[in-house]
Amino acid sequence: MNLILFGPPAAGKGTQAKRLVERRSLTQLSTGDMLRAARSSGSPLGKKVAAIIDSGKLVSDSIVVELIEERVSSCMGCAGFVFDGFPRTLAQAKSLDGLMARYGQNVDVVIRLEVDEEALIARISQRFEAEGRADDNPDAFLTRLNAYKAQTAPLIPYYREQSKLVGIDGMADMDAVSAQISAVLDQHEHRKMVDSAG
Ligand code: ADP
Repeated sequence: MNLILFGPPAAGKGTQAKRLVERRSLTQLSTGDMLRAARSSGSPLGKKVAAIIDSGKLVSDSIVVELIEERVSSCMGCAGFVFDGFPRTLAQAKSLDGLMARYGQNVDVVIRLEVDEEALIARISQRFEAEGRADDNPDAFLTRLNAYKAQTAPLIPYYREQSKLVGIDGMADMDAVSAQISAVLDQHEHRKMVDSAG
């Protein structure tokens, strides 16, 4: 089972991805986490992306696609992946489709966390006060939100056309969101089982 957690910045993708890792033994692939790790390691890649991340803009497709490919290729026995914060552009989504096909896999379902813009802004200003992440400052956050609208939201029709998109109420509390996601995945697994029983 491979799924994408989709939604605007601060929608709660990271929190839900971590729960899926614990509860369903899936492997979380968060490009945001990978890029932050590269950055704090001081590697050449980290140096290259630091300023872009802090500004709230997207790093290049080739960088994140390479990071994802590295992980997918080294994880052959994995039960499945939770993509979190990836793909974020149409080019990344197409690369992911190609990559999955090369490994005999596919994206099963895309779970879209739906959250109002005002709620996102409120969550992020709280997080900025608590954690001080540079790209949570109000200017960078607006840049992230605009990048989402311009570059990432076009993935909604892309996955809808593939009949993979499922919307979830991301305004509910964290446990209720987890329960909704769990129900979607159970239903999906059930359908897969019925299909393969033919
Ligand atoms: P958010 O909390 O906004 O979902 P992430 O932790 O996923 O943020 O990402 C933080 C930053 O890392 C992004 O603003 C962007 O600069 C970079 N980034 C993460 N994933 C991608 C991606 N798939 N494509 C391009 N840039 C990315």
